[in-house]
Amino acid sequence: MTRDFLADLAGVLDAPGLLLPGQDLTRYEREWRGRYESRALAVARPADVAMLSALVECCLRHGVAMVPQGGNTGLVGGAVACGERRELLISLERLRAVRKLDSDSACLTVEAGCTLGATTRVAAAQGWRLPLALASGDSATIGGVLATNAGGNETIRFGNARHMVLGLEAVLADGSIWRGLSPLRKDNAGYDLAQLLVGSEGTLGIITAASLALKPLPRQREVAWLAVPSPASALAVLRRVRQAVGETITAFEVMPALAIEFALAHRPGARCPVDPQAPWHVLLDCDCAAAGQWLGEAVLECLEAECAAENVTDVVVAQSQAQADAFWQIRESISDAQKAGGVSLKHDISVPIAAIPGFIDQTLARLRDRVPGIRPCVFGHFGDGNLHFNLTQPREMAAEAFRAREEEINELVFSSVLAVGGSIAAEHGIGLLRKGWMAKSADPAALFAMQRIKRALDPLGLMNPGKVLEVDYYSSASA
Ligand code: FAD
Repeated sequence: MTRDFLADLAGVLDAPGLLLPGQDLTRYEREWRGRYESRALAVARPADVAMLSALVECCLRHGVAMVPQGGNTGLVGGAVACGERRELLISLERLRAVRKLDSDSACLTVEAGCTLGATTRVAAAQGWRLPLALASGDSATIGGVLATNAGGNETIRFGNARHMVLGLEAVLADGSIWRGLSPLRKDNAGYDLAQLLVGSEGTLGIITAASLALKPLPRQREVAWLAVPSPASALAVLRRVRQAVGETITAFEVMPALAIEFALAHRPGARCPVDPQAPWHVLLDCDCAAAGQWLGEAVLECLEAECAAENVTDVVVAQSQAQADAFWQIRESISDAQKAGGVSLKHDISVPIAAIPGFIDQTLARLRDRVPGIRPCVFGHFGDGNLHFNLTQPREMAAEAFRAREEEINELVFSSVLAVGGSIAAEHGIGLLRKGWMAKSADPAALFAMQRIKRALDPLGLMNPGKVLEVDYYSSASA
């Protein structure tokens, strides 16, 4: 049966389009965090949309499940072929044409396999900004970024990936090609299929290209590093800066002293602009397209007022692009740097911004009671409510002993998140990793609606099965 399928597949794909077990599939099967093991029947690499459509039809004929894959940088196991069923990995890496940059419409149309980094550079070369920045951007693809509705440092101002989407092209679960590319800013003709596919993690269809809205490049920029006594002080600073120059804030990142300690140890030669032992640090980045000097003056005025209110104990404003880059290098190295501290249990969560200070204080107090010596490294995109609620093992506890408490710690963190109206998956999606928590935490009516959408668009359950939702295809009770 598998042999028949592979023979049929070979007839649909060109020679570079099919990689079989026995060839080196590591790049496609290796999962970033090493939590899951892929066991694909094969890896298909279609060269164009028509080939992908024929490939999907071939899978339908043989009842083979499909796992779309972009750069394979996802952090929740969404792009691994490890289900009970026979699964084909479909890499979009050969679909990487830049189809059109329309400056009048401020719209860039690219294929799904283009990396986010390359796409950003294409836009910048023509004087445009694609305002989405991820540390994985040179590997993550447009298809993957949209399928996970990725968010970066600039979400506070520009929103998540979905806010950049004007139109999509996709191959749906029946093999049909939906040609929905468009530069239109307004289109209320029926349901918004593009937004349904964004964030669906490959469970409803395969994105092949996207029309993305562009913004102008900045001409003024102010980057400042602040020492603040507490998350409550950080919130006060955010409130003031937002009221004064809110439309210019591209990042408002918060980091505790432990994150700075990890980052400085990881980057010999790096220097924290303020006292690294300050309990909390803020990296503020503001910019705007209009030329002039006013932004610096406005930001400084806010920071002076917050120093006077004792919400800021020290400030350094970057005097050059190089200094701004050095600030960001510290922030960007935290995730990697944390590895040196031992096992880290990571929670990509979001909570309402007003609730952040209380949420951090109360959740950390409960964690310290439960796991004495636990080392919280809670950092991230404070300005949009998204925190990387990472917890490093106590110094005196063995790694295995800490890992064994993962479920108990997840329960404590996620129940605290839900209690304040937050989300258990802010950036990375659900995939396999958070599927259990999705089932536990989603509103029952929403969950039921999602299951019905999945069944309607993918009646055979072949699109990335087992990810995001558990859908019972055999019981009429859930039909
Ligand atoms: P993959 O990992 O290949 O796939 C991810 C999911 O999308 C899977 O479910 C897959 O089936 C589906 N998929 C992929 N391509 C398609 C397609 N064409 N059509 C339909 N479905 C598809 N994420 C953030 O949101 N913000 C961050 O700041 C961030 N930083 C990161 C930093 C590092 C160092 C790393 C390793 C990851 C980071 N991530 C971040 C996670 C990851 O980079 C993003 O989820 C990214 O969007 C995944 O893109 P990808 O092309 O690698 O997708």
